[in-house]
Amino acid sequence: MSKIRLATAWLGGCSGCHMSFLDLGEQLVSLSGSLELVYGPLVDAKQFPENVDVALIEGAVANMENLELLQEIRNNSKLLISFGDCAITGNVTSLRNFFSVDDLLTAVYQAGPGSIPRSDDDGGAVLPELLPRVLPLHQVVEVDTYIPGCPPEPERILAAITAIMQGKPVELTEDQRTFG
Ligand code: SF4
Repeated sequence: MSKIRLATAWLGGCSGCHMSFLDLGEQLVSLSGSLELVYGPLVDAKQFPENVDVALIEGAVANMENLELLQEIRNNSKLLISFGDCAITGNVTSLRNFFSVDDLLTAVYQAGPGSIPRSDDDGGAVLPELLPRVLPLHQVVEVDTYIPGCPPEPERILAAITAIMQGKPVELTEDQRTFG
């Protein structure tokens, strides 16, 4: 039986969801007989591949780079999963929605110590162009299922992956559906 082609991606997030994925530890080694990790921060692949079976996406959509990667992921993945609360609701990443992009860039890159070009000054060479608002994934592309949590506990991730490997829908228990 061919292995399930799994990709993970890290958009506007803190990497905590990926850390929780790594916390699966030895169980990840056991899963490697059925899963092939084809893209993500843990893999040296520069280009998102074609024919991905499952894509676990951490973080919200905060800038043009996130937006373009997410659309590429959607076009090449059978099952796209919003992985963690930032992907599902915007969560921590969307706190900047209380401020205008212009005020933020001025405060961080011009009024504070040090000075680097803002994305609108240098064509995005240093900082990708920020979107006016941070968005959860489902406001940009169709999302197939959700794994909540900040970060999701490893057991919750394992339950979802196991269901997918068995060809079952991802049905989390009442406890596993709880956010936070
Ligand atoms: Fe980090 Fe929590 Fe967002 Fe995951 S959901 S990227 S752990 S802040």
